[in-house]
Amino acid sequence: MQADVMELVAGIDLGGTDTKFGLVNRKGDLFAYRSIPTNPDLEHEEFFNLLAYQLKEMLNSLEGNFTLAGISVGAPTGSESRGTIDDASNLNWPRKLPIREILHSIFGLPVTVSNDANAAAVGEMLYGAAKHHKNFICITLGTGLGSGIVSNGQLILGTHGHAGELGHITAVHNGRQCSCGRKGCLETYVSARGIIQTVLDADPGELKKSLLNPHVNGELTAEIITKAAGEGDELALRAFDYTGKILGKKLADTVAILNPELIILTGGVSQAGDLILNPTKKYMDEHLLDIYKGSVELKISEMASKKTTILGVAAFMWLKLDKQKMQSA
Ligand SMILES: [Zn+2]
Repeated sequence: MQADVMELVAGIDLGGTDTKFGLVNRKGDLFAYRSIPTNPDLEHEEFFNLLAYQLKEMLNSLEGNFTLAGISVGAPTGSESRGTIDDASNLNWPRKLPIREILHSIFGLPVTVSNDANAAAVGEMLYGAAKHHKNFICITLGTGLGSGIVSNGQLILGTHGHAGELGHITAVHNGRQCSCGRKGCLETYVSARGIIQTVLDADPGELKKSLLNPHVNGELTAEIITKAAGEGDELALRAFDYTGKILGKKLADTVAILNPELIILTGGVSQAGDLILNPTKKYMDEHLLDIYKGSVELKISEMASKKTTILGVAAFMWLKLDKQKMQSA
C-alpha cells in the first residue's frame, strides 16, 4: 500500500528586496525555506520561471511523500479579488501584473494572491502573538512599510483588498519623495529605506564622528545601523529615535481610528528590538488620546519574520482549499 501523501502549500513572500518562499502543511509547519533576490533587472517572466524552478527543486529535495496542493503569494499591493499585483511602488514590473494567471499557467494548481502585510497579520493571528486577539494591527517594517488590520476577528480588506496601506499615509507635509509618486509618506521615514535616508540626511560633521561614516557610500543597511546603535553610536541611536517618533505619532492616530488592543511590529527593521520598540512606544503613548491610554499593547513579533508572512500567505490558500472542500461536500 502506498504511504500517505502529505499536502503542502507553497507560500511566497514577494518583497521589494528579497523573495522568500517555503512549503507549509495545514498545521502551519514549515518544511523547507529559501530566499532569492527580487532582481529588478529581470523581466517578470524570467523571474517567475526562476522562482518556479527553485520551488520544484525544493519540493523534490524533501524526503517523504509530498504533493503540492496550491501556490499562495503575498506581495505589496497584492489584490486578492483581482489576482494581481497593482502598481507596487517597490517592484519594477508592469502596473497590473496578473500574478495568479502567471503562476497558474506554470504550476496548473490553484493560486491565491494576498497583500503581504495582510498575510503577516493572518500568520500572527493563526500562529503568533495575536492568537487570542480580535482587534489588532500588524505593521511590517521591510523595504517599505505595510500593515494588516484585524477588527472583530476579521481581516479588513476593503474594496480591492488594499485596505491598510499605512505606509502611504502622509507623515510629513511636503516631505521625502516616495516611490509611489507622492511626498512625505510614512514609509519614506519608517522602513529600512527610511532609516537609511535619515542617517544620510544627517549633518556631515555629525556623520564624520559616527561608526556609520565608512558605509555611507552606497552600502549602508538597516542591519548596519542596528549594529552601530547597539554599540552606542549616537547618530544611529538618534536615527532610531526619529524613526520611532514618526511611527509612534502615526500609530496614535491609527489607534484613534481602529481602537486595537495590540499592535505587532514585524519585518527586518523590527529585528532591532528595543531600539525601535522603545521610542515608538514612548511617542505613541505621548500622543494617544486619554481614552486609549493603557489599553493598547505594542510588541515585536515573536516569530522569525520570514516565517510569519510565509505561514500567513500559505494560510490564505488553506482557507481557500477548505472552503472549496465544504462547497463540494
Ligand atoms: Zn507613498
